[in-house]
Amino acid sequence: MRYISTRGNAPAKNFTEILLGGLAPDGGLYLPEQYPQVSRAELDAWRKLSYADLAFAVLSKFITDIPASDLKAIIDKTYTTAVYSNGRSDSDASQITPLRTLSPGVHILELSNGPTLAFKDMAMQLLGNLFEYALAKQHDELNILGATSGDTGSAAEYAMRGKRGIRVFMLSPNGKMSSFQRAQMYSLQDANIYNIAIEGMFDDAQDMVKAVSNDHAFKAKYKIGTVNSINWARVSAQVVYYFKGYFAATKSNDEQVAFSVPSGNFGNICAGHIARMMGLPIGQLILATNENDVLDEFFRTGVYRPRGTDHTYQTSSPSMDISKASNFERFMFDLVGRDGAKVREFWSRVDAGGAFDIKGTEYWHSLSKFNFVSGKSTHMDRLKTIRELWEEYGVMVDTHTADGIKVGLEQRRPNLPLICLETALPAKFAETIQEALGREPERPAGLVGIEKLPQRCELMDADVGKLKAYIAANVPD
Ligand SMILES: *Cc1c(COP(=O)(O)O)cnc(C)c1O
Repeated sequence: MRYISTRGNAPAKNFTEILLGGLAPDGGLYLPEQYPQVSRAELDAWRKLSYADLAFAVLSKFITDIPASDLKAIIDKTYTTAVYSNGRSDSDASQITPLRTLSPGVHILELSNGPTLAFKDMAMQLLGNLFEYALAKQHDELNILGATSGDTGSAAEYAMRGKRGIRVFMLSPNGKMSSFQRAQMYSLQDANIYNIAIEGMFDDAQDMVKAVSNDHAFKAKYKIGTVNSINWARVSAQVVYYFKGYFAATKSNDEQVAFSVPSGNFGNICAGHIARMMGLPIGQLILATNENDVLDEFFRTGVYRPRGTDHTYQTSSPSMDISKASNFERFMFDLVGRDGAKVREFWSRVDAGGAFDIKGTEYWHSLSKFNFVSGKSTHMDRLKTIRELWEEYGVMVDTHTADGIKVGLEQRRPNLPLICLETALPAKFAETIQEALGREPERPAGLVGIEKLPQRCELMDADVGKLKAYIAANVPD
């Protein structure tokens, strides 16, 4: 399997060549040259597989340049207990992503049983093992540099902790995260994890990361890399649970389902789009946004109009507070019939701070073939959904999952089983749960009292020179 760029001006590469990199050299994102197809016989056979075996079956179609026995070992190591480590006792760990049925035809697919209680662990844990494998083969090292407001940073640290050849330098705004988020990250004692609390806001930390990345000599000398959401390996790992969820919610491969996906950067739902392109019978992909509705606007009106970061609302589903959906370009490439020139034309406007509009073009008519619908959920909707699920079913969901359930129930075709993706556990967003239910969310047993563990963290001014000196001092020549 070879990978091509959405902007059509970069040489095709194989999986391990794009694993450690970010954007393609022409500024595009990588996608498979063609989507691998899944036959009816394969679907029938896959229905019976464990999560790890299913992951191997799916990912073998995307990863053809790692020997099968090595890939199998990497996947088995990831999808046994690593992504089911929070000790939740009400589900079946052998399933890794258990399906919880709320009422006939309405389900929640649990994706947040990993170490940081969010679905990002599902892909990030695999990425950690793939990175370690690839770096060992190349006798190379990687220093991951990132900025986080909470979720992505902790998922990356838990995936990379203790991995040979990898260090993580993670910047976070001092005093701006919840005490739980702080404890999750800063209590890690692994020698390869460097937490740096910046005297400033998240944007200051982000600017420092950009400044270091733009210093090409420094970046090359210290082998600086990232693990952001455009990474292809992350998207491909997410394809697996769409298959798992489909099999769990249906009895035969003649049935269709709807998936509802709380969305921000379009990474999660992009994996659903790819599963459908491979032949999984998905009748609807329901995209849910919060008050930051740039994607809902596109699917309703045909206008893609990214907002500036100063027009991004801070909401109670903060992991969906995005102004620009970094994976959306992957879907647009397919929508325009894989015409790289057309994508370049659209993104020349987006990259200059503008918008594009497909209403009235042939693409607007093609859109209906891709089975997307969308909707939006606000703080009040979130509180209402959390309350209703608690009162009717005794089920507590987090704020992001609530957005997905609200929009899913609103937009689904009634005859389709609805699978709502759970993207985090309520324990991560205690404040809003308190507001909705007047009680604290339950916390997985292993995480009770983590605020009392000793913490390790470097306090630093928002000063790029100091950051470079710190990295240089901790990376041996
Ligand atoms: C990252 C995240 C999302 C958004 O996922 P995308 O892949 O960026 O669309 C939704 N919910 C939670 C809890 C997240 O952490």
